[in-house]
This record gives sequence, C-alpha cells and structure tokens, in this order.
Amino acid sequence: MKILVINAGSSSMKYSLFEMGRHCVLIAGLIERIGEAASEHRYSLTQADQTPIQKPIADHRQALQELFGILSSSGLLADSRELYCIGHRVVHGGEQFRQPTLINEQALQQIHANSALAPLHNPANLLGIREAIRQMPQIPQIAVFDTAFHHTLPDYAYRYALPARLYTDYGVRRYGFHGTSHRYVARLAARALGKNLTETNLITLHLGNGASAAAIENGVSVDTSMGMTPLEGLMMGSRCGDIDPAIHFYLSRMLDLDSQAIENLLNKDSGCKGVCGENDMRAIHKLAETGDKAAILALDMYAYRIRKYIGAYYAVLGRVDAIVFTGGIGENDSLLREKCCHNLSALGIAIDSGENQNPARPWANIATGDATVAVLVIATHEELEIAIQAQECVAQQSESTR
Ligand code: ADP
Repeated sequence: MKILVINAGSSSMKYSLFEMGRHCVLIAGLIERIGEAASEHRYSLTQADQTPIQKPIADHRQALQELFGILSSSGLLADSRELYCIGHRVVHGGEQFRQPTLINEQALQQIHANSALAPLHNPANLLGIREAIRQMPQIPQIAVFDTAFHHTLPDYAYRYALPARLYTDYGVRRYGFHGTSHRYVARLAARALGKNLTETNLITLHLGNGASAAAIENGVSVDTSMGMTPLEGLMMGSRCGDIDPAIHFYLSRMLDLDSQAIENLLNKDSGCKGVCGENDMRAIHKLAETGDKAAILALDMYAYRIRKYIGAYYAVLGRVDAIVFTGGIGENDSLLREKCCHNLSALGIAIDSGENQNPARPWANIATGDATVAVLVIATHEELEIAIQAQECVAQQSESTR
C-alpha cells in the first residue's frame, strides 16, 4: 500500500512516498523557491541518491505536476490508483480538528478559517491541498494537524489568564505544535520501554530549528510549551520562547516599533540568533569552541530553559518513565543532552556519558544503569507519522461507511 505525504509551504513543497507494509520511504523530495526563476527540485530514491533538477516552477500547480511526473516516470507510481491516500500536513487545526480529517469542502473552509491563527502556514498548506485535489480527485486526501495531538490538554493548562471573552470570541488559548513528532516518539518510547502507551508517562523534547516540550500522561498530551503560536516556550534557533509580555510594550515605546516589526524581531532575530548571532546549533558549537562568550551563553540559556521545563513537567506528571530527546539537536547533540540533564539526579535522571556519545538509531536509552528515569534518544519521523495517521483515518472512514 502506497501513501504520499505532502507538506506545502508558501514557496516550497516537501513530499515522501511510503510503502506502508515496510514503513519505508520510496522517494522523498523537496521543491524549493516556487515562483522564482531559480526553482529547484531535489529528490532521492535512496538516501544517497540526490538528484537536483533546476527549472522554473511557477506555482503550486506546476510543483504538483512536477511531483506526480517524477512519481510516474520513476516507475514508483505507474498508475495513480496505486495510491491509498494522500496525507497533507496542516499546521493549525484550531479547536475543531482533534483528529486527522478526510478533506471535503467544509474541512477546507475550516482550515481556511484557522488561517488567522497561522497566517504564514495554513494558507500555504491549503494551496497544496486544493491543487492535489484538483489533480488527483479520485484519491482520498487527509489533513493531519500539528496541533491535534495536544487537544487533550486540560483547560487549566490551555487557558491563558486573560479576559475569558478573548478565548470564547477569538480563540486565544494554548494549542501547541509539533504534535506529529511528539506522538510518533511517544509511541516508539513506549515500545522501547516495553510498556503500553496508555500506561506511559513521558517528557518529550523536540529540539530542531523550532523546539517544544510536551508532558505526556498515559499516552496523551497534558501540557506543551508552545502556545497559541509556535513562539512560546523553549528558546529556539531564532524565536525567543518565553519572555515577559511587557517587553512588547517597552520595545514599542522605546524603539517606536509597530507590532509587525516586533513580531519579526521575536520570531526571526531572537533565540540563539539574537543572543550570539547564529541560529544553527552546529555553528553555535563551533563558535563556543573558540571561546566566544555569546555562543557559550546561548548554549547555557538553551539548556537551562529545557531543564526548567523538565522540572515543571515532572511536577505536572508526578511519575516520569522517560525523557525523550528528538529533532535535529535532540538526536545529534550529545553536549546539549548532557547539559539539559545536568544536576537532575535528585529526580532520578542521569545520563551515561559513554552511551550519550553515539546513541544507536532509531532509538537508544542513554540513562545510567541506576537511574530510575530512562533517557531515550529517538529519531523522529513526522512524515511517516502523517502517513500512519492518514492510513488510519481512511480505514476508519471505510469502516464507518460499510
Ligand atoms: P527542523 O526543525 O527545520 O526540521 P531539524 O530538526 O533538522 O530542523 O534541526 C535542525 C537543527 O539541528 C539545527 O540547529 C542543526 O544545527 C541541528 N543539528 C543537526 N545535526 C546536528 C549535530 N550533529 N549536532 C548538533 N546540532 C545538530
């Protein structure tokens, strides 16, 4: 059974075709700079085989024609009827979308309505979805939402201490993001621990360019660090994470910045980039190795925030079976993992320096033998999670229409 996963951005389109029996990727690709003369399509049929094709791709319609053209000419999809379904990543599901959803006109309108909450993402996701439906109308298309995994947060965790009407009339609340990643690694973590997910308590740390933590109780998300938008919570590559909201007013008064300028500053020029000038963790380590004080401070701040969240979520959960590190930084950065778990032995969290150096893939437990909490490093796979959820959604639909 083959499932195509599409992640459409405003000027890019990422895709993967899966053979679901073996959970293996048949082809993965990225079309970038859509709408520019120098558009580029890179894909790999195996991890090693990168084949860049440079040609102008005017819009999402052409991008999908290009994508379906490659699937057909590579022989991976001789007939489109071989596709069981197409799973689309959608960033913001608002309060309505708690599950992966078969896309129909009503769902399209609801996703559009949520654009106010994710103006950079949802309209771009919709462009890809509408075009895929136009070109493959016979194939079921499923929307899988970044926010959906966190719909189980209790009200005292998702509400902000703001006037109630801002929640009821404008949807101002914590939604949380990276849900597909937190869900994927939670399932693998339970398997690694030999437990049922429904009996497993976890603190999952997705540390990539964006970063978020989640508290997972008996398999469901009960708190998460990102909020109404992906700006809240942990310190990130270029996003500030938690700050005093009054800084906003102060900046506007002192620097005469309007809200758009402040939004840009907090999203694009803050976080690690703001503190040390670099947003890529590998570059920050290189700087720190030369003794650069700002880079050393950025690493200290980054790890300190994570330690605070581990402590907070420990208190939320009461019992923690494992801390899970994932994302480009979580999976690869042994130094940061060590800093994040430093001095937490009172909580039963301690990592073995040897095991931490080069953990096995797709998962490894790097906790010391006598630690009571496992520390797992798990390779996330958001596209596969979207494919799995899309498959379950179509299967449930067919079941209910029988
Ligand atoms: P995205 O959130 O865009 O999917 P990733 O999950 O790929 O991003 O994470 C990107 C981050 O991971 C970058 O900051 C990058 O420097 C970092 N990273 C990747 N490999 C390593 C490594 N070996 N050591 C430290 N950081 C790494």
